[in-house]
Amino acid sequence: MLTHDAAVLKAREIASSVLAPSAGQNDSAGRFSTEAVQSLGESGLLGLLLPVDVGGAGLGPHTFADVTATLAEADASVAMAYVMHICATATISAARSGATHAVAPVLHEIAAGRHLSTLAFSEAGSRSHFWAPLSRAQRNGDGVHISANKSWVTSAGHAQSYVVSALAPEGAGPTDSTLYLVAAGTRGLSVAGPWDGLGLRANASAPVALNDCNVPVDFQLTDDGAGFHAMLNVVLPLFNLGTSAVALGLCRAAVTGTASHLKNAKFEHLGQSLGESLPNLRAQLATMQIDADGLSARIDDLIEHLETPSEMTMLRVLETKAAAGEVAIAVTSTAMRVCGGAAFSKHLSIERLFRDAHAGAVMAPTGDVLREFIGKSLLGIPLF
Ligand SMILES: Cc1cc2nc3c(=O)[nH]c(=O)nc-3n(C[C@H](O)[C@H](O)[C@H](O)COP(=O)(O)OP(=O)(O)OC[C@H]3O[C@@H](n4cnc5c(N)ncnc54)[C@H](O)[C@@H]3O)c2cc1C
Repeated sequence: MLTHDAAVLKAREIASSVLAPSAGQNDSAGRFSTEAVQSLGESGLLGLLLPVDVGGAGLGPHTFADVTATLAEADASVAMAYVMHICATATISAARSGATHAVAPVLHEIAAGRHLSTLAFSEAGSRSHFWAPLSRAQRNGDGVHISANKSWVTSAGHAQSYVVSALAPEGAGPTDSTLYLVAAGTRGLSVAGPWDGLGLRANASAPVALNDCNVPVDFQLTDDGAGFHAMLNVVLPLFNLGTSAVALGLCRAAVTGTASHLKNAKFEHLGQSLGESLPNLRAQLATMQIDADGLSARIDDLIEHLETPSEMTMLRVLETKAAAGEVAIAVTSTAMRVCGGAAFSKHLSIERLFRDAHAGAVMAPTGDVLREFIGKSLLGIPLF
């Protein structure tokens, strides 16, 4: 049985032996690390949150956050693919009763470490407003046909399945969506372009096209029109926690990398290291540490809310991702300044952290949208 401590230890081992040695090269080449996914599978981490009765570890948000931050410290691309997988598996695991029989083998395969899943929500037409897909499922006997242009899907072409959103066949409003589980080999599903991002370059977040994909009724994960509810209540808390943990891992890596540079880079003419010589650099390093620890405390608070929900929990879910995106950008930007030319000329991994940190604020719900939701909810204005 995988315990919290054992899971974090396994994440540490994978981070140091599999992720760290190749993170730089995979970033440069935009190469998805299949060996990272294999290690996560073999260690039982792909089934981290799945119930014990399907072979999962039955662990919770605390372990998910610690494992994710540990992976992100070594390679945020892998950590983000892991976050999307955990969100997708939670959605599959929460499937409506009519789908539980059909998805059981998928859950067993995930728990056995042989199946990677992901979320395919965002569409080219509604952009970051993932809650409003433009695609609409069409009835096809008992099941549906789906055609959709999914704009960015992490692990595209590497996942064994996709949790896909589409408007319900008879849905009346823009958020009346349904979620479906679509196997990677489904006829009509294809990776529709390359992924060449500024950051998170090694996580294959490419567009995916669905052309008349046939989805049997057994693989309809939510009731008709209940996709929006699952997005907000199943996916959003885990996604916001996971992206915040990725941000924390990036901050920790930036602090470690900067401290190491300040210790090792020398002013030979002064006979001192940079850190010994310059108090302004020491002060900036201290600010980075304060910000990273502040984010860590915020994440701990969110975990407590998710473990013991109250009426404030959704506010914390929104606040934490908004804050995490800003903190990661601030900490890695400071690291770029402190490490100067060595960072700018890519002699250190700091510039990869800086680029990766910018993805969190762009990924939906974006930092702007989160602030919009928080502001509206404080004023009692409906969010949608
Ligand atoms: C690395 C990466 C991986 C991704 N992986 C996935 C995935 O696996 N699955 C998936 O479904 N999607 C994924 N996405 C898509 C992502 O979640 C967003 O949908 C996408 O980045 C939105 O980009 P956009 O510029 O088209 O957004 P736009 O909607 O065009 O936003 C442009 C700007 O407008 C702001 N804005 C938009 N709406 C509002 C508003 N209401 N109020 C205030 N400001 C607003 C935004 O904050 C942003 O600054 C991924 C994206 C990235 C970058």
